[in-house]
Amino acid sequence: MKSMDKIVSLCKRRGFLFQSSEIYGGIQGFWDYGPLGVELKRNVKEAWWTDMIRGHNDLITPAGAPSTFEMVGLDSTIIMHPQVWKCSGHYDLFHDHMVDCRESKKRYRFDQVRGRWCEHRDQKIFVSTLAEVEQELDEVRRRAMKFFKLRPKNADELTVGNESLTLDQLDDTHSVLAPDAKSLDTLTEPREFNLMFKTTIGALGGEEDAAFLRPETAQGIFVNFKNVVDSSRVKIPFGIGQIGKSFRNEITPRNFTFRSREFEQMEIEFFCRPDQSQEWYRYWRDRRLAWYKTLGLSDESLIMREHHVEELAHYSVGTADIEYAFPFLPPGEYGELEGIAHRGDFDLRSHMEGKLDPNSPPGEPMKVELNEHGKPKHRGSGKDLSYRDEVTNEKFVPHVIEPSAGADRGVLAFLCEAYTEDEAPDENGEMQVRTVMKLHPRLAPVKAAVFPLVKKDGMPEVAQEIYGELKQSMNVFYDEKGAVGRRYRRQDEAGTPYCITVDTDTLTDKTVTIRDRDTLEQTRVKIDEVAAVIHTLLR
Ligand code: ATP
Repeated sequence: MKSMDKIVSLCKRRGFLFQSSEIYGGIQGFWDYGPLGVELKRNVKEAWWTDMIRGHNDLITPAGAPSTFEMVGLDSTIIMHPQVWKCSGHYDLFHDHMVDCRESKKRYRFDQVRGRWCEHRDQKIFVSTLAEVEQELDEVRRRAMKFFKLRPKNADELTVGNESLTLDQLDDTHSVLAPDAKSLDTLTEPREFNLMFKTTIGALGGEEDAAFLRPETAQGIFVNFKNVVDSSRVKIPFGIGQIGKSFRNEITPRNFTFRSREFEQMEIEFFCRPDQSQEWYRYWRDRRLAWYKTLGLSDESLIMREHHVEELAHYSVGTADIEYAFPFLPPGEYGELEGIAHRGDFDLRSHMEGKLDPNSPPGEPMKVELNEHGKPKHRGSGKDLSYRDEVTNEKFVPHVIEPSAGADRGVLAFLCEAYTEDEAPDENGEMQVRTVMKLHPRLAPVKAAVFPLVKKDGMPEVAQEIYGELKQSMNVFYDEKGAVGRRYRRQDEAGTPYCITVDTDTLTDKTVTIRDRDTLEQTRVKIDEVAAVIHTLLR
C-alpha cells in the first residue's frame, strides 16, 4: 500500500529529501534535496527546459498549436525593484487569511485547518487538527474524548461526523477547538497576511530600503519583455521561460514539500495577439497536461480543473489547474501541480501605466487604480511595452498565457507516483515484498548500476571499465559489496532503471546481463554493446 509515511521515510532513508537544518531541530517549510533528490530535481527541470525551451523547434507547428512559435529562456534576479510588486498587485493583494489562537499563541491558515463536528450528549463542537489526512479521524476522536473527559469504555457516547471540513467552510468559529488549544472559541477573526518575505537593501535599512524576495518568477519575465524583444528578434507568438527560486511566507507550510516557504518554479509567459489568445490558451493547457503524462504520471491520478467563471479575474478568459491525487489528500481530492492562466494584457499594461484596477467594470479596458486623492495608486514604469507587428505595422499590447509549474511539487508527484510495492524473488528464490521507485528513465537519479557478481576472478576490473565508459555520459553507480540480490534491492529503491552485472559467463563469452527494474527480466548483451543498448533503452 502506498502511503505518505512510507514515501517520506524512503525519501529520508535513501537521500532524496531532508528537513532543512535538521541538526538544529529543522525549520518549518524548508527542505533540502539529498544526493538522489538533487539528481531527480535536476532531471525534472532539465526535462522541462529541454521540452519547452531549448528543444523547441520553431520551424514546425507542434500538434494542436495554431502556428509555429519561438521559445527563449531567461534568468532574472530574486530581488527586484519594489515597484515591480506594487504594479503586479502582490504588494496589495498577495495575502492569505490567517487566524491566531489566543490560548496557544499559534497562527494558522484559515483554509488549511481541518476537522470534524463531534457530539457528546447535547454538546456539539468542531474539533480541528493539523494532522495528516491519514491520521485526521483518529486525532479528532482522541482530542474529542479528552475534551469531553471520556474513558475508552465510554467511546460509544461520542459521535464523530463523517465529513472532514476546513475552518473556512464553517459559519463561525465559536464552537471550534483549535488545533493546539484545550478550551473552545480561542481563535481570532481571520485576518489578511501578506505572503512576501521582506528584506532590506544596504546598510541603513530604513523602510525606503525595503525589498521583497520574489513570490513568483513571472514578474522577472514581464519586466524584461522589451529587452528580450529588442535583443533576440523574437516575433509574436513567442514564449519566455524561466526556472528559479520563489519564496512565500506560507502560514502553515505542510504536506512535505507540497507547501514550502522556499521552492522552485518553472514558468512560461507566452505572448500572442489578443485575437488568438484563446486558441493559445487551449494549446498550452493541453500540452502541459500531456507533458506530465509522458513522464509517467497516470491518467487516473491527474485532472485538469477549469476554474469557474466566478473564480476568474475578469480580464482572464480562462484558468485551468493541473492537479494530482497526492496520497496525503483524502480520496477524490487533488492538489495543484501547475496553473495555466490566460492573463490578458494585465501584466504588461500594469508595468507600463501603473497597477490596473482588478475591479474595473467588465467589458471595458481596465483602468489604472487610483488612491483616495484620485492619483494612480502605484505608478508604472512609463516605458512603452507594446509590440509592433512588422508585417501589418499594427501596434498592440500582447496577451499572455502563463503555464506556471512548481518544480518541487512536480518532483513530489513523480516520487508519489513512482512508489510501488510488488513481489520479487530474493537471493534464495523466495518471493518477498520489494519496494521499487518506478521513475521514468529520464527522471531517474541514477540511470544504471554496474555490479561484479563477486569481488574476484577479474570481474571487478570488467565492471569498472563499463562503469568508466558509461560515467562519461550519464549518472552511473558502481557497487561490489554484499549479495547481488541486496544490491538490486537498493537500486530498486533508488529508482535505477537498469542494473548491469558481470558474472562468470562474462569471462568466457564477453557478455553481461542487463536487468530491467520494472519487469525484472535479464538479457545478455555483449560488453562492447552495453553503452549503446543502455542509451537506446533510456531514450
Ligand atoms: P496554492 O493554491 O497551492 O497556494 P497557487 O495557486 O498560489 O498555489 P501559483 O501562484 O499559481 O500557486 O504558483 C504556481 C505553481 O507554483 C503552483 O502550481 C505550485 O506548483 C507552485 N507553488 C506555489 N506555491 C508553492 C509552495 N508554497 N510550495 C511549493 N510550490 C508552490
